[in-house]
Amino acid sequence: MDKNFHDEQCRGTVTFTPPLYKQRYQFIKDLVGKYKPKKVADLGCADCTLLWMLKFCHCIEVLAGLDICERVMRENMYRLSPLPGDYLQPTERSLTITLHHGSVAHKDPCMLGFDLVTCIELIEHLEESELKKFPEVVFGFMAPSIVVISTPNSGFNPLLPGVTLFRDPDHKFEWNRVQFQSWALETASRYDYSVEFTGLGHPPTGMENVGFCTQIGVFVRKYPQTSGSAHPEKPTEAVYKTVFKAVYPSLKDEKYLQNAVVSEVFFTAQIIKQSLLDHLISECEEYNDDPTERKSKFQLSMKFLSEDLRKLVVEKNMEPFVNKNVLYIPLKTIFSFPKVNKLCGTFDRFCKLIAGKVTLSSDGSAVIFNNENENEDN
Ligand code: SAM
Repeated sequence: MDKNFHDEQCRGTVTFTPPLYKQRYQFIKDLVGKYKPKKVADLGCADCTLLWMLKFCHCIEVLAGLDICERVMRENMYRLSPLPGDYLQPTERSLTITLHHGSVAHKDPCMLGFDLVTCIELIEHLEESELKKFPEVVFGFMAPSIVVISTPNSGFNPLLPGVTLFRDPDHKFEWNRVQFQSWALETASRYDYSVEFTGLGHPPTGMENVGFCTQIGVFVRKYPQTSGSAHPEKPTEAVYKTVFKAVYPSLKDEKYLQNAVVSEVFFTAQIIKQSLLDHLISECEEYNDDPTERKSKFQLSMKFLSEDLRKLVVEKNMEPFVNKNVLYIPLKTIFSFPKVNKLCGTFDRFCKLIAGKVTLSSDGSAVIFNNENENEDN
């Protein structure tokens, strides 16, 4: 018997471990890991669980969901919103998630430009007239690089206790493997795609001829990507209603990049300051001196910095110093810290990003921090 199949006859149920719906989502996640699509649309997204899982795939920058049932999307859509942590530590990746209310039987320009389109347990819910229009909408109009369609294999149904006609009362049909594969092959050939068949949920040993419980077709477009302008005939009229849109904070957005750089400047300054003060205090202890005296008397130099920090500061004019309780840290010193350097790329950009956000010395070459309050505490 297959390892993910348990025929629990004593309880009259057949279950798969993990449950088949989770295996279907994992199948899509694996596919995303393999093809690294940037833009993914889930048709018949229902409660948005697959979209929620996909938002953690770092290659994805655009996620869209479509469903004919607005309520089911609305009930769960807030889990697609950014979390506080997304704002606290924005990443390089941009991510936009939108949900649309509409039917896969209709074309809408918001569904153009996707790399991967998933239709998980959707087609068996379509009325005959919708199923007829579905291939033209998905393969003809949307024309993504990859389409994944999963649907129940009716040949497996006799192994599922309690299933009489269909697995779900909302199913309009259920196909066996021959029916699904002939529809898929015909669709693939009409729209210039190749298709490979696979599935999830193995039958028990000795019953392999029934095939997988869930049958899957993975369609790959044969012709190369075309720009939107190559399809001037594609309609521009929007028919779907957008019910949700979340734009995740990203360092690609100047506002978040600026915040991140400024925080990093303060953080870096804090490290430098602490390192200088630690050294002073240890020196004072060594010489039985008074630390506060030393702090104001000493011109602090890079020789007080830890070995690691010193290595980072490569130019002579990058040495931080204290003058009358004011700590001066040259911009070049801060820019030489790897994180700041990576965030900004160039020194010019760094200067532009912090302009007006930190206090600079009169010649504009150093960030200044007033130590007065701290001295009072000591
Ligand atoms: N894909 C999800 C999953 O695997 O968990 C949900 C599948 S659910 C069984 C089928 C979904 O298709 C339902 O949410 C239903 O509202 C939606 N649906 C049915 N007809 C549709 C249509 N014409 N256009 C878009 N969505 C449709």
